[in-house]
Amino acid sequence: MRLTRYFLPVLKENPSEAQIVSHRLMLRAGMIKQQSAGIYSWLPMGFKVLRKIENIVHEEQERAGHIAIQMPIIQGADLWRESGRYDDYGEEMLRMSDRHGRDMLFTPTAEEMVTDIFRAHVNSYKDLPLTLYQIQWKFRDEIRPRFGVMRGREFYMKDGYNFDLTKEDALHAYNRHLVSYLRTYERMGLQAIPMRADSGPIGGDDTHEFLVLAETGESEVFYDSAVTDLTFGDRDIDYDSVEQCQAVLEEFTSKYARTDETHDEAKFNELPKERRRVARGIEVGQIFYFGTKYSDAMGATVVDKDQKQVPVHMGSHGIGVSRLLGAIIEASHDDKGIIWPEGVTPFHCGIVNLKQGDEEADAACETLYAALEAAGLEPLYDDRNERAGGKFATMDLIGLPWRITVGPRGLKNGVVELTCRRSGESEELAPEAAVAKVVDIYANL
Ligand code: ATP
Ligand code: MG
Repeated sequence: MRLTRYFLPVLKENPSEAQIVSHRLMLRAGMIKQQSAGIYSWLPMGFKVLRKIENIVHEEQERAGHIAIQMPIIQGADLWRESGRYDDYGEEMLRMSDRHGRDMLFTPTAEEMVTDIFRAHVNSYKDLPLTLYQIQWKFRDEIRPRFGVMRGREFYMKDGYNFDLTKEDALHAYNRHLVSYLRTYERMGLQAIPMRADSGPIGGDDTHEFLVLAETGESEVFYDSAVTDLTFGDRDIDYDSVEQCQAVLEEFTSKYARTDETHDEAKFNELPKERRRVARGIEVGQIFYFGTKYSDAMGATVVDKDQKQVPVHMGSHGIGVSRLLGAIIEASHDDKGIIWPEGVTPFHCGIVNLKQGDEEADAACETLYAALEAAGLEPLYDDRNERAGGKFATMDLIGLPWRITVGPRGLKNGVVELTCRRSGESEELAPEAAVAKVVDIYANL
């Protein structure tokens, strides 16, 4: 993409409505525009990152054997009356009626609808296990929408639902989700710590939330500092293996890590003092096992081996896809702007032309641009007729992890400059070597 042909409405001034850095930077970098309280338009660069995050979620869900569907955003109230949640959900549910006076609502989550799909089409234990998921817009009429996309009213969420014959099988599905979530967040450059949590209106006993540590997080968290040493890395886990998934769960959840809802001060104090941490975190996901709560209420049964009708065991699992943009920026920025992890960056590499209109500099930039594209990468070429300082400031603000700077002086010596956004370090390289290095970095992600 050439900047002169793109739509990147960056702001020079700090927007006064933003209280936290991620919200401020998303507005300044022209990623989102607020349309109502907690409701945003996604401008091109914000939308691009949203899509990257969504793709990682899809890829990791598929890897775990889960199957994508899409359910409607506007749902009838009847299913929700069956489960009893039409009344229980309260004011967070946005309700409306259609022209025939039928009660409708904007989906805040989809346990009822997915259970309805299941009961209509699945009758036998032979069709289990089954996990269906979607990535879809949700609406919750939050009492205090704030912090930009972090606590919106309209937000984008991955919600997945497992259907299993036995509790044991459903707990394997729970563990499998935990493993796949660890992998999902790490691909986005994030450390998200599973913490024992409270189940809230979804119901059920087993639940973990995934939290990204950040001063601006809304949850208070208590943990053993040793949990931050754990990384999932590139382990090759067989998602069908009960033992392997169980082992990962134990490794990642046996150390003390809880939100304030489940915090146990006495237990926490058993830890050596120097390992006790009290901090704040951003909830980027949650997994639940809730047994037969919805299948009992809605008659989702299958016949088992003995031809007996039994209710299925279920769980639900959510990832805050749009919230993740905020969480990633909270975890990865500096005074100058965003620092995108390579896994989610909107463009792989910036190209800054220090002297637009200079024949040699222009030609060198075009060659770099073509070479990066030929290697399957997306460069963003700042081809504006602007001074170098302004170009650098824009690149730093929008946070592309790598930048190649091209100027007549360097070209005389046959070099361009490759700069790492995170470390700020630069090196002079022949243009082909700079391209090769960037290509190599992304090839090894
Ligand atoms: P919270 O406690 O933050 O209100 P929740 O526990 O009600 O969230 P879940 O039902 O677990 O949310 O939804 C799954 C994920 O969706 C959450 O982990 C979070 O990342 C995201 N999410 C929930 N509410 C919002 C919101 N208002 N804006 C953006 N993302 C949200
Ligand atoms: Mg939650």
